[in-house]
Amino acid sequence: MTGVALRIETCGKTFADATRALEPVTLTIAPGETVVLLGPSGCGKTTLLRIIAGLETPDRGGRIVFNDKDVTHVPIERRNVGMVFQSYALFPNMNVAENIGYGLKIRSVNASERKKRIAELIALTGIEGLEHRRVDQLSGGQRQRVALARAVAVQPSVLLLDEPLTALDAALREKLRGELDRLLRALGITTIYVTHDQSEAMALGDRIVVMRKGAIAQVGTPRDIYFAPENRFVAEFVGAANIIEAVCEGGALVLPGGALPLANGTLDGPAFAMIRPEAIKLVAAGGARLHGRVDSVSFVGDRQRASVGGAAGKPILVDVPNTMAVSVGDKIGLSVEPGAIRLLPGDPT
Ligand code: ATP
Repeated sequence: MTGVALRIETCGKTFADATRALEPVTLTIAPGETVVLLGPSGCGKTTLLRIIAGLETPDRGGRIVFNDKDVTHVPIERRNVGMVFQSYALFPNMNVAENIGYGLKIRSVNASERKKRIAELIALTGIEGLEHRRVDQLSGGQRQRVALARAVAVQPSVLLLDEPLTALDAALREKLRGELDRLLRALGITTIYVTHDQSEAMALGDRIVVMRKGAIAQVGTPRDIYFAPENRFVAEFVGAANIIEAVCEGGALVLPGGALPLANGTLDGPAFAMIRPEAIKLVAAGGARLHGRVDSVSFVGDRQRASVGGAAGKPILVDVPNTMAVSVGDKIGLSVEPGAIRLLPGDPT
């Protein structure tokens, strides 16, 4: 099974009550690619997903193209999309096997072929033994496996997943995330996955589309988004970030507590720098180029998170190894690799 190329062309959405849910968005998704739409509540993720599904029409000028076919005005039942939502939306009057086979039945796939496909999907999603259970006798995780099996049973051109794991507890969410990742790779279906959970986005996305207020804030691989955010919103939404107002001068970031060397080629002038807490090392004060004082430190198991005052214009968060002795009031030095300092454009909004 191979996925289709999906093109979203200047798709915006203004609802009847004049709510502008989506600014015109353009995005090309490769066959078999998994793209995650990530952003805070109300940023337009679901609206974009519903436009791709055919549940909403984009504003005038917007187009949805599957391979070379314009499907903008093709209704959902003829678009061949598979969907899974946060709420399970299974047929309560059917058992597991009947739910999974429903789409095949309405497509007139014969009984023996259907049986074979259902068995494959049951094995693929790890729900063997539950074939004859009613869906109200399943756990949340089992229901989502059934929903997924049902969605992919008909070999959809595009698979659309809207927060499918959100209703599950943290441990199960992480387990299913791994299974889903393997499944999507095995099937090779072009997939759009909506979430507001950044670790889910990182784990599943070939690319992540970070959205904000109905617009795209950045598109990139999980590593691009994490290490090279293009603006402050992305830097702060994905992972923890210190955003520091500073001046670049003579190849260094000049701060109240000292100066940090920058990568070559940095222009002089005012700047906003982003440094991740794990990119900063706590070192002995003597010989360090940037100095500060430990204001607070909390032990979180795999590491300690310290807040350091006096180094920059505001407290800096630093990840400290969990075995390192560090106390409030310690006068310390800070060191950062030049490559770990990311300068953000002038207006850091
Ligand atoms: P969440 O993570 O909370 O589900 P989201 O990013 O998926 O949010 P959308 O559901 O796409 O956001 O909503 C985007 C905006 O459009 C919101 O302001 C929402 O209130 C609005 N909206 C969504 N559907 C409609 C509608 N049918 N009529 C009017 N406004 C709507």
